[in-house]
Amino acid sequence: MQRFVYEQHPSRVIFGAGTFDRLPDEIAQLGLKRAMVLSSPGQRRLADEAAKRLGVATAGIHAEAVMHVPIETARVARETARRLAADCAVAIGGGSTIGLGKAVALDSGLPVIAVPTTYSGSEMTPIYGLTEQGVKRTGRDRKVLPRVVIYDPMLTLALPAKIGGPSGINALAHCVEALYAENANPITSLMAAEGIRALARALPAVVKEPHDLEARADTLFGAWLAGSALGSVAMGIHHKLCHTLGGAFNLPHAELHTVLLPHTVRYNRDAAPEAMRLIAASLGARDAAESIYDLAKSIGAPLTLQEIGMPLEGLDRAAKLAIESPYYNPRPVDYAGVRQLLEDAYCGRRPG
Ligand code: NAD
Repeated sequence: MQRFVYEQHPSRVIFGAGTFDRLPDEIAQLGLKRAMVLSSPGQRRLADEAAKRLGVATAGIHAEAVMHVPIETARVARETARRLAADCAVAIGGGSTIGLGKAVALDSGLPVIAVPTTYSGSEMTPIYGLTEQGVKRTGRDRKVLPRVVIYDPMLTLALPAKIGGPSGINALAHCVEALYAENANPITSLMAAEGIRALARALPAVVKEPHDLEARADTLFGAWLAGSALGSVAMGIHHKLCHTLGGAFNLPHAELHTVLLPHTVRYNRDAAPEAMRLIAASLGARDAAESIYDLAKSIGAPLTLQEIGMPLEGLDRAAKLAIESPYYNPRPVDYAGVRQLLEDAYCGRRPG
């Protein structure tokens, strides 16, 4: 009999086309009256739409979210929340905007209402990240977990394939690592396997036909499951490598996940056979690593570290950084293995 601990994170999820219109009701149900609406500069139009729906419950709009939540950006948002006397943060956008909402919540305890428009999954986790002097620090705190999440696939119709594809593979990576996590349990494994199925089925359809609302909804559903799995169990070599390389070489987050995932899965293949069987079955494939590589290729996502800005001369340093602090991974993490993995990813070799 398997013994396990499963911690459920309480959040309310509203899912479906047109659910963005429910935002004012959800805020009112929480007894909130002064929302600070957050977005990235590029998503300002959506922030305006949110403010329009909220009417007098809008305290102000702060469209200043940027990738990796620099501490200076967090400080400005926290100060703005105080100045506006906001009683909640509505984060509408991708992981960067939701991350800014979490940074505000960490400081003030204000509830976050998330309206995700990418597939990062951050909205379902109590994990926050802050970047100070080039180093990204992550932590867990229940108060940053969004209280309400509104998944409206209509808001993702404009997400271009070059952002949506890698973002979907980012979600896939959460599911993959959840299946071989040290604290994996039957509940997160169910979510992870179903998340892989939904993402693998829907991502090619989304890229082929961006206005396919069913496929958009399926992808968001997969991202929800992926985020739930990420928030419940510990991640392994894949997430650690992405974190280390992203910070040290300033590489784009979702694209980095996309390039590395086939190689990290290949790295763990023989050490986690049951997880590999589940991943492959969910992908409808024989081999998990090969299938993920082919999926990324089929949606036109980047396949090499080179094309996303990793310098060749950085591979040695990256491998050293990756083995600095020990953590659980099905296959022990050693310099030679990681260096080979990074070289394969740098060149974009199909894992075999
Ligand atoms: P992002 O939020 O930076 O968004 C990427 C780009 O897409 C931005 O330019 C944004 O303006 C644009 N965009 C977003 N939605 C759009 C839409 N619907 N249409 C058109 N353009 C749109 O990137 P991301 O990949 O969503 O998130 C990455 C960040 O999230 C990283 O900082 C990562 O560390 C963090 N993250 C955190 C967690 C967690 O649990 N804390 C989980 C996953 C990712």
